[in-house]
Amino acid sequence: MGLHSTYGLTRIINARGPYTPLGVSRSGEGVATAVAAALSEFFVMAELQDVADRALARFAGAEAGTVVHCTASAITLAVAATMTGESAERIAALPDTAGMPRAVVLPAGHAVDYGHSITQAVRLAGAVPVAVGTEEAYTLEDLENGLSRPDVACLLLVSSRLVRGAGAELSEAVAVAHRHGVPVVVDGAAQDFRVDQLLRTGADLVTVSGQKYLGSPTAGLVVGRADPVAAVRAQERGIGRAMKASKEAVVGVLAALEARHGLDMEAWKKQQADKVADFVARAGALRGVTAAPVSDPTGLPFERARLTVDPAVSRMDAAALESALRSGSPSIWVMPGGRPGAEEVLLELVPLTPAEIDAVLVRLAELLPT
Ligand SMILES: *Cc1c(COP(=O)(O)O)cnc(C)c1O
Repeated sequence: MGLHSTYGLTRIINARGPYTPLGVSRSGEGVATAVAAALSEFFVMAELQDVADRALARFAGAEAGTVVHCTASAITLAVAATMTGESAERIAALPDTAGMPRAVVLPAGHAVDYGHSITQAVRLAGAVPVAVGTEEAYTLEDLENGLSRPDVACLLLVSSRLVRGAGAELSEAVAVAHRHGVPVVVDGAAQDFRVDQLLRTGADLVTVSGQKYLGSPTAGLVVGRADPVAAVRAQERGIGRAMKASKEAVVGVLAALEARHGLDMEAWKKQQADKVADFVARAGALRGVTAAPVSDPTGLPFERARLTVDPAVSRMDAAALESALRSGSPSIWVMPGGRPGAEEVLLELVPLTPAEIDAVLVRLAELLPT
């Protein structure tokens, strides 16, 4: 906690998940050591990037991979790649898209906001987002209609708990796009555990954040077919200049991939399940709330703890509990995203230490009636 005292910063307990405004994630020791070593070295950056690109492709089981600044930029650059291919002229022209396909079709409910709207990441490349269907649902027919325009660059799909509305299986949507000869970009920023599944949908490019569950420094990972990945990397001579991965990020990604490779997934899953079960048992014993484990809607391999508040007993609703947790010291951040209209908060315990979990329970006990 040295930096917090040095700079007078708020101490926090992050039960909100890999959230950018809170610093996203904790990197492990291997990543921290590798990053520190990288900072004082020079590299032939193209060579370093080649090594990381190959490691990333192996990790994902993809033909190819590359590292850019973050996933927001990975989305912009993936869209750019579908408009320019490896044409140096087109790459230099962006964001001027004269003479290029420029429509990016996406289901309306996939126009997620992760701090800004994903449609702005699309527009940043010079492309034009075209939403199909409604917030509530989209059908394959909606997609067919959107994709039959003459100027489509790609179909953009999102795999995230932020996605709204019902729709087709991703693989069905990908198949429709491919029947139209349109490439598909899938944004799975927090889906590093499921990147192989996202590739199996047939997507041409999948974007993932290095700094979310993988625990690297901020980095956007792009994996998929060799040609479009090469076209993403080629953007470094164009708009990608402003979205480049730093040497410490690339080295950090390599270390994070090694750490993930060495992770005993079954043991890790059991550890997460035990942590949630223990928290739910202890929180459930408090008055004014009930607690239950809930699985992740996208299929991430861990559960979260859901607290359902009974305002008649606790004398506060879920929003008041959330704000009371946040205004204490340390400031405890929980996840919104309980079911609509329900008095619920979610807690993601993945990066928390046992001492932090104890501190959350102590604070809950102080706030709730005895
Ligand atoms: C976090 C997130 C992003 C942005 O990722 P960064 O690496 O922070 O730029 C994009 N899409 C979704 C669905 C996300 O959850």
